[in-house]
Amino acid sequence: MSGIVVFKGIGIGKCQLIKDDPIQISDELILPEKIAEEIARYEYAKAKVIVQLNALKDHTLLTVGEKEAMIFDAHLMMIDDPMLVDATTDKIRQRETAEASVTSARNELVAMFSQIEDPYIRERARDIEDVSDSLVKTLLGIDTINLSLLSEPAIIVARDLKPSETVMLNDQVKGIILETGSVTSHAAIVAKAKGIPTIIGYAGICSIVQSGDIIVLDARKNQVLINPDEESFAVYQERMNCELQEKIRLSSLKDLEAITLDGHKIKLYGNVGSLQDTLLVKSQGGRGVGLMRTEFLYMDNSHFPTEEEQFDQYHRIAQAAGEEVIIRTLDIGGDKTLPYFTFPEESNPFLGFRAIRFCLENPAIFKTQLRAILRASHYGKVKIMFPMIATMQEFRAGKVMVREVQSELRSEGIPFDEKIEIGIMLEIPAAVLITDLLAKEVDFFSIGTNDLCQYTLAVDRMNSHVSHLYQPLNPSIIRLIDIAVKGAHSCGREIGICGEMASDEIAALVLIGLGVDELSISPSMIPLIKEKIRSVYMKDLQEWVEPIKHLDSQDDIVASLERSLEHVNC
Ligand code: PEP
Ligand code: MG
Repeated sequence: MSGIVVFKGIGIGKCQLIKDDPIQISDELILPEKIAEEIARYEYAKAKVIVQLNALKDHTLLTVGEKEAMIFDAHLMMIDDPMLVDATTDKIRQRETAEASVTSARNELVAMFSQIEDPYIRERARDIEDVSDSLVKTLLGIDTINLSLLSEPAIIVARDLKPSETVMLNDQVKGIILETGSVTSHAAIVAKAKGIPTIIGYAGICSIVQSGDIIVLDARKNQVLINPDEESFAVYQERMNCELQEKIRLSSLKDLEAITLDGHKIKLYGNVGSLQDTLLVKSQGGRGVGLMRTEFLYMDNSHFPTEEEQFDQYHRIAQAAGEEVIIRTLDIGGDKTLPYFTFPEESNPFLGFRAIRFCLENPAIFKTQLRAILRASHYGKVKIMFPMIATMQEFRAGKVMVREVQSELRSEGIPFDEKIEIGIMLEIPAAVLITDLLAKEVDFFSIGTNDLCQYTLAVDRMNSHVSHLYQPLNPSIIRLIDIAVKGAHSCGREIGICGEMASDEIAALVLIGLGVDELSISPSMIPLIKEKIRSVYMKDLQEWVEPIKHLDSQDDIVASLERSLEHVNC
């Protein structure tokens, strides 16, 4: 068995299997004389879940943050809401078991709430689902694992991790193995940012391990050992210690610049989704944020975040980011959906109503975000970046909205950076091919290779059946990046990369050789990439990339680069 390695490394710990098997509930009726007892059983389970929710809330508040802890407030309110309590007890009085009663009350209420137009109210359906499911599990004696409460080294094994679960991952999580997912899924991005050895797409793993098994995850060789013998265990323990030593060694580069041996400086930044990630970028020696993915703020929420909620995050990130933060406007749609918004049915969501297309058609949502970003620009160096731009007209339409919001703020006397730069992501080949034209009006560029590969090679980035065709070092991608860099530089515009490709040791050097000014990568990869940059000459990199522009396969390109790298012992 094997999967796809998301973050390389060795992890050892006890298996924490997160099961999401459907729960079986019997529809047998209870005896009339058992009704009072059943109500008491329900009350007891409710009290138990309330204690758990309070503990979770306190812990999340301390270890993660206020916003993340708010989810538990909503759950605490819902569990005691008379609507749910009365509907459940009524059903027990009609002789249903407590778990069947909670489930049918849940289903009726969810159906009712889902009809309501107001997204805030409709979202309450999710809270009902969450608390009812906890109640049912407690009634049935099924353990629920809380990832933020783990107190010993653990390897998480699951089919997939929800965004709300990934924010909870604490320092005890030494590895993650998922049956599904893609390299660019939310769980993968968070695991990589935190530097947790992770393998995804490991089919069948959930059915061969049990919670408590000792697992050695070798996310270098793409292997998993379950309850290994003492000898193998010791070998891996030793390897893990070596990795730790290596991390400590690399941490000595923290305050050094990302500069080649012949003095060519690179902006080495981090990709973030939260304030926590931003602090991680700093602690790893990154000097700024090249991509702030704002969609997490929308996805991990129960409603479209308000201007204040967004401003609170953005301005704190702007203050913490260092040299600058590039805030990307909402990139929603495709695989990124919102629990409180119904997207139109689409047969090709990745080619459909997403990102800037969604924002331009929803000016109220877009302008709320722009106001929050502009207000944050008063607190640190902020740049605005539009995702998924395909045409000059889309860029202009987005810029018009920025200008409108700026004049509103001006008339309200709210300060913002009057010189704020507006850039775009280059992730659609159509835009890359006209970079020189866009550069006349666009202030800066960042190449999104995750999507650029998908759209250039016609390979769904989420589809493991075609993942062998997803080739960031394919000649077509090299040529597109070359065109983009030359186009941007023809008008003196800066161009960076914020796709996962820039976190790869070899690809990062290729990108620098092609002339990109900035690499924005997973925070955990910053030390290693910095070391690579500091060990090469820019003139060598430029020489290496010239011949690869004429090779016709990724394999040949990789082989050529490996040969070149051997010479410098890098
Ligand atoms: C990209 O497409 O390369 C990118 C950075 O954006 P995302 O992964 O969020 O689509
Ligand atoms: Mg993208």
